Amino acid sequence: MEFCPNCGKVLSLVKKSDAVVLVCKKCGFEKSMEKAVTQVSSKKKSKVLTIEKETPDEEVLPTIDALCPECGNNKAYWWTVQTRSADEPMTTFLRCTRCKHTWREYG
Ligand SMILES: [Zn+2]
Ligand SMILES: [Zn+2]
Repeated sequence: MEFCPNCGKVLSLVKKSDAVVLVCKKCGFEKSMEKAVTQVSSKKKSKVLTIEKETPDEEVLPTIDALCPECGNNKAYWWTVQTRSADEPMTTFLRCTRCKHTWREYG
């Protein structure tokens, strides 16, 4: 609770268009609140399937036709991993749906 430096009355919270201010209802003193602004989180999640760990859950992964070098199966889960630096290309990982062998695909 804060008090008006002019008249000593309790200041009231008043919402203005995009800010919240403390207002003295007696003398009209105003003080802006710096921390009171409500943060609206509107981060939209990217729809690109980029997983930062190398062993994601298989049920979320799409499959493609890819020849497994281990068992000759021709279906594999795939996902991409973005390295830390943005100018490096994403690495595509493939995992055999039969034997779970996992390998990378370069460019
Ligand atoms: Zn006042
Ligand atoms: Zn395989």
